[in-house]
Amino acid sequence: MRALWAMCRGRGVTPALLVVPNWHGEWPLDRSPAFVQWVRECVDSGAEVLLHGERHDEAGAPRGWRDAARAWGKTAREGEFLTLEEPAARERIDRGLALFTRLGLNAVGFVPPAWLARAGCLRAVAAAGLRCSEDDGAIHLHELPGMRRIRSPVVRWSGRSPARAYTSAAVAAARWRVQRSARHVRLAFHPADLDHPATARSVATALDRWLGERPASRYADL
Ligand SMILES: [Zn+2]
Repeated sequence: MRALWAMCRGRGVTPALLVVPNWHGEWPLDRSPAFVQWVRECVDSGAEVLLHGERHDEAGAPRGWRDAARAWGKTAREGEFLTLEEPAARERIDRGLALFTRLGLNAVGFVPPAWLARAGCLRAVAAAGLRCSEDDGAIHLHELPGMRRIRSPVVRWSGRSPARAYTSAAVAAARWRVQRSARHVRLAFHPADLDHPATARSVATALDRWLGERPASRYADL
């Protein structure tokens, strides 16, 4: 996490942080004061915070076959909002935001884990008063009474296995060639991206390439 932050800051970029209130039910933020302190310091340096699910995984939320088809190849059971209808989504979002408030963190938006959610989740995000959310093809700006969809490819990596590490590095390189002219591109990093040399190299290359073409922007700019 800190290494990725330093990689970005070393290139003049202040990344937005996707923060999980209680990762896998094992890391409640209110019992992780050192981490919360680090997040606050990042915010003081200009980082935007987005709520990123409540626990991130799918524990206790069995998939139907349609859910399984949507999530196929995208995540190893880390699509917390994949199966949630509006009330359940709203409940988790509200709990997450309440915790953020207690910790002095202010979220600008919501990103469902693995960018997988149902239509009801978008309504829940808007009803909770958040200004933006995302899927893997677009950023949604909730502007009452409607919503504006900004097309935005997302480049991401996976180091879960060596094969996936090399594949995701190849996909990132291909996206640079194919989507270079896209107006809004998201580079999404996970702490484990630096664990494999292929993804670590690819992440650094992607930052240099995309930043060479355009300055980084913030959610607030949208
Ligand atoms: Zn995630």
